[in-house]
Amino acid sequence: MTDSPDFAGFERAGIEAALSDLGVPAFHGRQIFRWIHARDVTDFAVMTDLPHRLRDRLAESAVVTTPVLEARQTSTDGTTKFLLRLTDDRQIESVFIPDTPSQTFCVSTQVGCAMNCAFCLTGRMGLVRHLTAAEIVGQVRVLARETGLRGQPFNIVLMGMGEPLHNYDETMKALRILADPQGLAVHPRRVTLSTVGLLPALERLAGESLMPNLAVSLHATTDEQRNALVPINRKYSMEQLIDACRRFPLAKRRRITFEYVLLAGVNDSPADARRLVTALDGIRAKVNLLPLNEAPAIPFSRPDDTRVDAFAKILADRGVTVSVRKSRGRDIRAACGQLIVEGARRSAGQRLAGQLG
Ligand code: SAH
Repeated sequence: MTDSPDFAGFERAGIEAALSDLGVPAFHGRQIFRWIHARDVTDFAVMTDLPHRLRDRLAESAVVTTPVLEARQTSTDGTTKFLLRLTDDRQIESVFIPDTPSQTFCVSTQVGCAMNCAFCLTGRMGLVRHLTAAEIVGQVRVLARETGLRGQPFNIVLMGMGEPLHNYDETMKALRILADPQGLAVHPRRVTLSTVGLLPALERLAGESLMPNLAVSLHATTDEQRNALVPINRKYSMEQLIDACRRFPLAKRRRITFEYVLLAGVNDSPADARRLVTALDGIRAKVNLLPLNEAPAIPFSRPDDTRVDAFAKILADRGVTVSVRKSRGRDIRAACGQLIVEGARRSAGQRLAGQLG
């Protein structure tokens, strides 16, 4: 690690401000931002439209970090899992999910997670640390480069490791950097933020001008159930969460996605399905059912397909838009709850586990 400012984590205005501190004209900030985010060039020496002296000065006083690609694994369905190493040698995973029908990058916002949901492997690690905006955007830069999609449309889902609203400031900064038309130009409409529903942060999100799509991990229909599955519910009840969703300012034709992991015999009964319909009454909602991706460390099982279909049908028959998430990349453990980093440095405490959709 170094104390030099990391230009990869600055918004364009931030680079301009850093330059003006050095007495350098602001327009060079725009050039540098473009080099980093539009062209994926991180070596100041190669930024040929900058004066030589500036390149030398920057090389001495600033850095542009990028997660290092350590390994990749491609599933039979084309889903590709990328293992990335950060500057402190911690590892994270990001996943490319092709043709769904869009191209989608699934990125992490934390190393580990503090939410400890009962069926999620990442929760087992606890929170190791938040990612910086540079590291969140860096995952997208690496994936765009590796998939050849730079300059082409793709979607981003914040559904990797971590709870994005627990790392609010760096996550929102990353979204602003990604949205900048001088850089990767990923419009927030193409970004989905998935959250357990940290209430104060959700209220704050409601006031943002750059608004991603919202997905809420509900997973239950009573407080008793949700307390057991999503521990943060003990602090912010389902009623408070649903109220906040009801108030959430949705853009035209936008809806909130409610994610609902299906656990056999726990939350997958017809009565659960009917309660879910009632809970979402009056909200512009769609429901994404996630049949559990099983793992030995997860003490639940996946309902069979007929049970999943029956649950979905109850929602659909009552006018709720519902989809069942097809599990992608299961053979390489890149699916939700199956993202497991098994690096060379693995030890009991370091076994990094994550969940991706
Ligand atoms: N912290 C955010 C992002 C988590 S990952 C959130 O909770 O929304 C995206 C989704 O995958 C969440 O809905 C999460 O609950 C779900 N998930 C986690 N483990 C899973 C598993 N083993 N099987 C299926 N879905 C899982």
